[in-house]
Amino acid sequence: MKIYFKKNPNEIALYIKNLVGKCNINIKEKFIELTGFKRGYIYNYIPNIKALKNVKKIEFETYEIIPMVCHEKFYFRKPINTYEKFIIAGPCVISDFNEFEKTVIELKKLKVSIIRTPLFKPRTSPYSWEGFGKRGIKKLAEIKKRIKFVSVMEVLDPYDLPAVINVADIIQIGARNMRNYALLKHVASTGKPIILKRHPFSKIIDFLLSAEYLAKYGCKKIILCERGDSFSDGKSSINLNIIKEIKKIYKIPVIADVSHSAKERKKVIEYALKSWEISDGIMIEVTENPNSSPTDTKQVISLEEFKNLKEKLK
Ligand code: PEP
Ligand code: MN
Repeated sequence: MKIYFKKNPNEIALYIKNLVGKCNINIKEKFIELTGFKRGYIYNYIPNIKALKNVKKIEFETYEIIPMVCHEKFYFRKPINTYEKFIIAGPCVISDFNEFEKTVIELKKLKVSIIRTPLFKPRTSPYSWEGFGKRGIKKLAEIKKRIKFVSVMEVLDPYDLPAVINVADIIQIGARNMRNYALLKHVASTGKPIILKRHPFSKIIDFLLSAEYLAKYGCKKIILCERGDSFSDGKSSINLNIIKEIKKIYKIPVIADVSHSAKERKKVIEYALKSWEISDGIMIEVTENPNSSPTDTKQVISLEEFKNLKEKLK
């Protein structure tokens, strides 16, 4: 870490020594070089150091503040093989179990067996339907018994976790909750693999710090998911640079949610094609009868459209 100073570096160095405790301080011409501190925890002291009147700026390496996500290898083979590109497909929300089951059967024929199984939906309006919630878990478990697949489910509330972990293989932290640190800790402590979505306009560092919460609190299997910069009625967007940047430096799988980023069917296909090239996989909303989807109706694609797309994803 480099602490650039205006003047009085010795004074700053003494302050840092008292504040941080065990660390090595090396005063250079323009900055103080700080090493030997406890990685991660150093972040705690940055506001105090930054606030000193003779400190100009602080520069750090990402691994100094996000040690686990930067160094550990998060690729894994179970319940999905993240060493290979993969597709997570399924409805925006499970609204009809018969249609859901038919959709899964068709997706499996197309060799897709990682399925979106949303029962809990974060809704902008408190008057909107929020999914079947816990009442849907039994039915979902029955379908899972009949047709084997990997279930991905968003969790909004830690109270639902004990029920959800019986049926979900992978837990999704939705974009709205990327910064819900209490939820991150609870979900991480289940030991389940987690898909962490990027909150609109969040920077890579904040995205990775949220992933670091998951790692620190017990999660060993993390997948990051880019999903664009707007919620329901906003514009289409996907930040492919974020995917490229993360993949260039870190060993953590990154996928693209091409549905919530694209927001309309035509764009979903375009986004899927361009994200497939650079990411570890895609998440896509597909159901047998998209027009009957009570949520995100415009962006959910049909099985037919998915089949056509899949042929192009090689
Ligand atoms: C979802 O994937 O169902 C969802 C609500 O997405 P996001 O959290 O990215 O808005
Ligand atoms: Mn949706």
